[in-house]
Amino acid sequence: MAYDPNNIFARILRGEIPCKKVFEDAHVLAFHDINPQTPVHILVIPKGAYVSLEDFSANASDVELAAFLRAVGAVARGAGVAATGYRILANHGADANQEVPHFHVHIFGGRRLGRMIARGDTPPQA
Ligand code: AMP
Repeated sequence: MAYDPNNIFARILRGEIPCKKVFEDAHVLAFHDINPQTPVHILVIPKGAYVSLEDFSANASDVELAAFLRAVGAVARGAGVAATGYRILANHGADANQEVPHFHVHIFGGRRLGRMIARGDTPPQA
């Protein structure tokens, strides 16, 4: 899948639309999700143009990879959920319902999060 430079997170990175920023360094931006599912719901994105984890894990530099994972931990600590616990989640592709085609990790926290994944009502794939 080719990267769409007009996806909403690319536009946030270019400053064309606002975000509620919580962290930024040379490689990473983090901001509050516009439709939070939990008391803490923050998105962490690389500044590079990567469609999803599939793209990022294969094509990002070691510096970008390290900066990203460091940032996820720092953002969670900064949000105050490191002691109580949190969940990170990254959707890739259709089966995961990825909505925005710029790689991002969700950080959820601030309450008990329940099951890791909803019980599916669809049959397993062949
Ligand atoms: P995903 O299904 O993993 O692609 O999730 C995309 C997330 O981006 C959703 O949780 C949306 O609420 C969030 N989102 C979409 N537009 C914005 C925006 N302009 N600012 C912050 N979060 C957004």
